[in-house]
Amino acid sequence: MTHEIYSPHRRGLLLGAAAGAAGLAILGRPSIGNAAVALQGPLKPNVYRFRLGSFEVTTILDGLAPNDGPHPTFGADQTPEAAAELATANFLPADTGVNSFTPVVVNTGTQVILFDTGNGPARRPAVGNLAASLTAAGILPESVDIVVLTHFHGDHIGGLMEGETAAFPNAAYVAGRTEYDFWTHPDRLSGPTENSAKLVQANVVPYAERMNFIEPGADIITGITAIEAFGHSPGHMAYNIESEGRRLVLTADTANHYVMSLQKPDWEVRFDMDKAKAAATRKSIFGMLAADKVPFVGYHMPFPAVGYVEPMGDGFRYVAAGYQFDL
Ligand SMILES: [Zn+2]
Repeated sequence: MTHEIYSPHRRGLLLGAAAGAAGLAILGRPSIGNAAVALQGPLKPNVYRFRLGSFEVTTILDGLAPNDGPHPTFGADQTPEAAAELATANFLPADTGVNSFTPVVVNTGTQVILFDTGNGPARRPAVGNLAASLTAAGILPESVDIVVLTHFHGDHIGGLMEGETAAFPNAAYVAGRTEYDFWTHPDRLSGPTENSAKLVQANVVPYAERMNFIEPGADIITGITAIEAFGHSPGHMAYNIESEGRRLVLTADTANHYVMSLQKPDWEVRFDMDKAKAAATRKSIFGMLAADKVPFVGYHMPFPAVGYVEPMGDGFRYVAAGYQFDL
């Protein structure tokens, strides 16, 4: 008698039998499906590719590094309370954070240009994963034609060498003259610049013969132009990238935190070697990006590291890119 199936008594029996077979009942419902999938940990994208005119731009996550920030790395001249208030207002914890590192590849169709090389082998496995992710993105390290170094801090030049061998064996290299001259001066090999200068000797100087030294305003190729962004380091440079009327500015380390550095561009940042100059550069470059409503890619912005800025208070609000590049 089919109607018995729907009687309260009969239904209870059926549920009891099903739950018994599955060994589990949640809120009185039987468990359906027993194909257990073990928890596998967070899965985050590490490659992001989009079109910019006739160029293809790929941002590649070199890795993520937890830290105790943002204060006092960011807002070193501010009270912990002021920094905590800013973090909290932006849905961030006050005493712990994550730094990310994002090299960028521009493929013009005839040339593959890599901006910065990540942390390299020394800091694996958390970071230093550019080479592996490049290959996964379909770009072999051997196919990189030009490596552009925005500046010579370790998280940007660490990936130039893979042990004793060149990580990008067929590439030509581009670096700012000011940056190279500063870091290779013998005085840098002692004092606070010692570690960085030694890494420059190991990772950059071997390429000097294949290096093109440029000044702000120089074109690397048609459509890619260096912009003076001194302050974070003595010769730090940003790049304007333009194709078929579409524009993107690669800001490198002009701002190093999407909240602290953009909303409070005057706050001191430990990594900025000339703090006043870095702040002035931040305001000038992001002021231009806000006024022109131009997207940017920032090395330490949250992956995929592409967004916009709009004026807000003393600084700017970061607006992560949506589908603008899909149009
Ligand atoms: Zn950096």
